[in-house]
Amino acid sequence: MVTTRSATRVVCNDSTTATASNSGRLSQAGTSDKDSEDSDIAPRHVKKRFRKGAGHRTKTKLKRRGRLDLMPTMNLDVLFHILSFLLPMDLLNLSRTSKDFRNLLLQRSSASAWKIARLQVDDLPDCPQDMSEPQYANLAFYPHCHDCGRVVRSVLWPLRARYCPRCICENTLDHWGSQTRIPRMNFSPYDLPHAMIYGTGRPKQLFLRKAVDDLLAEHIKTPADEMAALLLEKRKYAAEVMEHAEQCQQWSQSVANSRKNELDAIRRARQDDIVTHLTEAGYKPELDYVDRFWLQDRLGASFREPKPLTQKTWDRMRPDLITALDKVRSRRIEDKVYGPRRQILVDEYKKYLQHPPPPNAAFDLMPHAVNVAEFDPFRVLITSPESVTITATSFVSAFQQLPDFVSSWRAKIDHDFLDLIHCPEKQGDSDKQKDTDCLQLATAVFVVECGSDRRLLMYPEVLSWPGFFVPATNTLPDEVYQLHVKQFGCRMWSAVRHLPRISVFEGAAAVVQAAGCDPKTTRREDMDVLDARFACGECSTPGRKVVMTWDMAVMHSYRLHRDLQTEEIKWTMIEGDELENVKDFEKEAKPLVKADAIVYCALCQHHVRDAQSLASIQKHLAETHGVPLNEAEQGTHYIPDRNSTSVISMVVDSDGKVSNHADHRLVPSYSSGVEILYWKSHLV
Ligand SMILES: [Zn+2]
Ligand SMILES: [Zn+2]
Ligand SMILES: [Zn+2]
Repeated sequence: MVTTRSATRVVCNDSTTATASNSGRLSQAGTSDKDSEDSDIAPRHVKKRFRKGAGHRTKTKLKRRGRLDLMPTMNLDVLFHILSFLLPMDLLNLSRTSKDFRNLLLQRSSASAWKIARLQVDDLPDCPQDMSEPQYANLAFYPHCHDCGRVVRSVLWPLRARYCPRCICENTLDHWGSQTRIPRMNFSPYDLPHAMIYGTGRPKQLFLRKAVDDLLAEHIKTPADEMAALLLEKRKYAAEVMEHAEQCQQWSQSVANSRKNELDAIRRARQDDIVTHLTEAGYKPELDYVDRFWLQDRLGASFREPKPLTQKTWDRMRPDLITALDKVRSRRIEDKVYGPRRQILVDEYKKYLQHPPPPNAAFDLMPHAVNVAEFDPFRVLITSPESVTITATSFVSAFQQLPDFVSSWRAKIDHDFLDLIHCPEKQGDSDKQKDTDCLQLATAVFVVECGSDRRLLMYPEVLSWPGFFVPATNTLPDEVYQLHVKQFGCRMWSAVRHLPRISVFEGAAAVVQAAGCDPKTTRREDMDVLDARFACGECSTPGRKVVMTWDMAVMHSYRLHRDLQTEEIKWTMIEGDELENVKDFEKEAKPLVKADAIVYCALCQHHVRDAQSLASIQKHLAETHGVPLNEAEQGTHYIPDRNSTSVISMVVDSDGKVSNHADHRLVPSYSSGVEILYWKSHLV
């Protein structure tokens, strides 16, 4: 509390202490106004307002009755008691509210009020002796340039000033600057307080321009014999200012740090509040699922704002956040709930395929797990609520129903496939009929074209054409879609995703005819049972026949002679000794398939995308079926894929000698030009 005052004394408001100054900086104590601590700590715009309002003083006063401007008229003991609760910034603000307050607070007798306020600021160094309390408060707390009034956060403590970048040049001299001319005298930087600036450019040593001028003036006036004493006195003062500045600098740094910590705490509380609201709304699993930057990305600056979260702000951010979190929820469930269940299905289906099919449940080609997962009993299990525990045994009943679903799935994709077949116009209506039975014929061999990819495929393996599974390239990058692809390695069978052009390969009919069979009725298994060997009329020369199995002959027609009319190739079936020699050779010559052959496992049920390189299947045989590498046999353990040129063709000489036939013409590899259809386990 302040020292005793007359309880009846009120502040006189006709003081003339407020004098215009061209500087926002407080003038030094001890100015011409003997009763004033300070001539001006009010920015110019405040003074202007007073001048403007002078003509309506009474009116304004009446309007303001009951507000702050009546305070200076109250009992001073009471008033100073109230002031003792304020901080320096409050006193500064108060002194700028009215002339009365300014007069009151800038009186020297009010110094104790400022001191009380200052002492409430933790660790702020004492007011230096050569500054008044209001000047010191203004320096430490009023965040504006002392010259132009712009907001400036940092204080040049040794210079006891705040300057914006523009005013700093006008008001200071850089001792190290090339442009600066500090007058020659016995001057050392230690003689005046100076601020060191280490910024991005070269360092600076700044002096107040006015202080240099004053020193120079004194220097001129001072007799030579008193010069040493003058400089000593200056140096002593400078050292005191510098030491005080150092303490202030540390104080201001610690204030900045604690302010930063305070803001961080407010930010954390705001973020915690957002998380709490979302947790209460049931989105905890989603928040755990996305990483911690998700909310920040979503909310942008609003997430890091150092303000407590109000109900209004929360209401504003809530709808968008919930919409976004609902999407996260579907992704999380697909990933963390359905994902593991789908993996169980994939593993169980793999085991299912390793066993012979149950009676009446054998199919020439089983579906991929991605399709099995969509069969009703499986889908219901996979998409059952999160709280339901799904294990391998949960799928037992679904697997019992699998054959029915495979059957209808096959019927459906057979139809979809037939719909894709391009029929040459010359064919009659009867040939056009889309009867899935025709797919069993030996002539069910197709040229599948899509983009630059073109290949010959027999049924049913043609259903494994990679394009039926590969995700569409133009699909929008939907996260759930991508998760699906990741979980299965492919998409569900679809005839329309890549829309290939499919036509029947006419060359197959010629081979069937060469066996004396009717292409319209002869089925694939009829040709297999016949087990004939065919000589290519184009490749054979008198006394040297190039011979092969019927499916190789079809493949051969396409790969080597597709520019010929089918009847031009002239396939002949070999008979008698020649046939026996060839078959004997096949039995003896090992391996019968090429090293890079594409085969599939004979012990697993034949399924979509099971065709792989011989080496991979040998590994599978050893690991899954316990068949050692050297015991794996063609036919028993693995089957060459008809759609690759896996099987070696042979040459029969005129003396009946059989040997391997090396392809004499380089033809594009079966897998060449596969651009859109690259896929890990495609049919090469
Ligand atoms: Zn400025
Ligand atoms: Zn040929
Ligand atoms: Zn197998």
